[in-house]
Amino acid sequence: MRKKIVAGNWKMNLLHHEALELITDIVNLVDNENNVQIVLAPSFPYLKEAVEITNSHPQIKISAQNCADKENGAYTGEVSVPMLNSIGVEYVIIGHSERRIIYGETNSTIKRKLDLVLGNSLVPILCVGETLEERKSSKHFEIIATQILECSQHLNSDLLSKIIIAYEPVWAIGTGVTATPAQAQEMHYYIRNFIAINSTQEIADNITILYGGSCNEKNASELFSCKDIDGGLIGGASINAESFNKIISTLNK
Ligand code: PEP
Repeated sequence: MRKKIVAGNWKMNLLHHEALELITDIVNLVDNENNVQIVLAPSFPYLKEAVEITNSHPQIKISAQNCADKENGAYTGEVSVPMLNSIGVEYVIIGHSERRIIYGETNSTIKRKLDLVLGNSLVPILCVGETLEERKSSKHFEIIATQILECSQHLNSDLLSKIIIAYEPVWAIGTGVTATPAQAQEMHYYIRNFIAINSTQEIADNITILYGGSCNEKNASELFSCKDIDGGLIGGASINAESFNKIISTLNK
């Protein structure tokens, strides 16, 4: 079933005490009756405490921002999906454009991560998005299709239906330039239709597709009112409890 989700990607921000304060503020601010799944993605060192603080608030789940593409072994500095699972983390963001562009992750790296996340019964938030050059040269649909196919083509319908897709145009991330609701809806519709063509209409109708890219409390309402947008993956505006809560309230309406 399509879920309403607002996920906060905190990136490499906040010291330990600041992260704990933000989690506590969010827990205190959010309406317990809301029908939005809230997902918080703090940095690795804070995940276990984040899980503990939010444990009695089922509408808040904790996500990692990344994971290793290997299950275990001699991979210095990496954090595996089973490790995340063992501390109660339930979601993992994979394929974020900062991982793709700055750390050279390819669709095949992301595919391996996706398999590990699904194989350990965590929920992947698979990010896809085109650069400005790709959009200007009208390659944006092709780029998104390739990212989705190369990462997830091999999955059976059961596993495919467990994925959350986040459409995050690279030109909108952290830039203050948001996709217009029309641009975002056009791509979300394209993604849903692409999934219908390549798997089943049922999966397409039920898959959750989030928008990400300079989404904030001012523009969330217009974006979230689009038919194929099920919520947001929020960067900058997610590390302010009040802004983040306003975004959640917008989707809760
Ligand atoms: C992101 O990095 O996933 C993101 C959406 O960032 P921002 O909201 O800051 O553009």
